[in-house]
Amino acid sequence: DADQSRPEGKPWIMGIHAYVPGKAVSADGTQLIKLSANENPLGTSEAAHAARKAVADSAEYPDPDARELRLKIGEVHGLDPARIVCGTGSDELLNLAAQGFAGPGDEVLFSKFSFSVYYIAARRCGATPVEAPDNDYATNVDALLAAVSDKTSVVFLANPNNPTGTYLPRSEVKRLHAGLPSDVLLVVDQAYAEYLEADEDDGGMELAMAHDNVLVTRTFSKIYGLAGERIGWATGAPHLIDVLNRIRGPFNVTSSGQAAAAAALDDQEFVSRSRDHNAQELARFTAAVEALGNHGLRPIPSKANFLLVLFEGAVTAEQALNAISDAGYAVRHLPGQGLPNALRITIGHRADMDQIAATLRALCGERA
Ligand code: PMP
Repeated sequence: DADQSRPEGKPWIMGIHAYVPGKAVSADGTQLIKLSANENPLGTSEAAHAARKAVADSAEYPDPDARELRLKIGEVHGLDPARIVCGTGSDELLNLAAQGFAGPGDEVLFSKFSFSVYYIAARRCGATPVEAPDNDYATNVDALLAAVSDKTSVVFLANPNNPTGTYLPRSEVKRLHAGLPSDVLLVVDQAYAEYLEADEDDGGMELAMAHDNVLVTRTFSKIYGLAGERIGWATGAPHLIDVLNRIRGPFNVTSSGQAAAAAALDDQEFVSRSRDHNAQELARFTAAVEALGNHGLRPIPSKANFLLVLFEGAVTAEQALNAISDAGYAVRHLPGQGLPNALRITIGHRADMDQIAATLRALCGERA
C-alpha cells in the first residue's frame, strides 16, 4: 500500500539503542551532584575559560583545520601537527575511524565491558561488532587476538578502560599490536591517559608514530574539564589522518572549543592539580569500598577518574544506587552494558566521596 510506505531506518541502524546519558535528577525531581559522567570535579582551568569567552561573540566559522590548536597539541605532546586531526569530542573520531576503515561485511572488535560507543560506531557503518571475553573486567589480550578473523578491520582498545577503569600495561598493548595483521587498524582510546602517573605510559603514541595501523585518540572532556566544548583529537600515520580528514565535518570543532583547548594545554598546573586530587581521592575511596569486602562490595582497581564497584553480596547495586541518590548523588548503573551488579562512581570532591562511602557503610549496617 503506497500510502502506508515511509522511510525506514537501515536494519543495521535499527539494531542500535540510542545512548542513554546519566541523569542528575532523582525520582522525585531533586537536583543531584553528578558523579555519573566522569567529568572533572575541579571544573575548567581559568585560563581555558577566559579563552573561550574571548571568542564567544565572533560571527565567523571556526578554523576548519584547527591549526593553532594542532600546533599546540604537537608542541605539548612532541607530535607532528600534520599527523593530528581534531574532532567533535573523541566520540566523533572513534565513529570516523570505524566509518573510514570498516563497512558491511567487516568486523569491529573490542573487549567486553569496554566503551559503549564502539558498538554504536561499528553498527553505524554497517560492520559487525564483535566482543571478546574479558579477564575479570579487564581487557584480555589473548581473547582479543583469538577473536581476530579475516573480516576484522578495526580493533578498539580503551586504556584506561571505561566503565571498568582497568589499565593494560605497555607490554600488553605492544603484544596486542604485534599479534594483529598489519591491515587491521588498532585504535588506542586514551581518553583517561592524563590520569595515569606522570611516568606511566601505555606506549600507544609510540606505536602510532612507528606503525601504519595505529591511531591514538585523546579528549579535552576529562582532565581538561572541557566536556561541554566537545573536543578531542587523534594522531597516527599520515594516511590514517587523511582518511579521517576526508569524512569529518569541515567545521567540526567550534571556535570556543579550539581557543579553550589551546589555553588548557598551556595550563598544565591545572592538569597536575586535577591528577593529584584524583589520585588521592581515588585511593581513599577504593580503600573505603575495600573495607566493605565482607559485605560483598568489590572495587575494580582503577587508573581513571572513576571507580567501578561490584555488589556481590546481600547489598545490591540497585539498593546502593537508591541510597546514594537519596544522599544527593547521581552515579552510573549500567545494566544495559551487562553490569547489573555494579555502579560506576566518578571521583568528586573529598567531602562528596566521604559521604558516598558513609552511605555505603550505613547500607551494609556498619557504623557510618
Ligand atoms: N573514550 C572513552 C573511553 C570515554 O569514556 C569517553 C567519554 N565517555 C570518550 C571516549 C568520549 O569522550 P568525548 O567524546 O567527550 O571526547
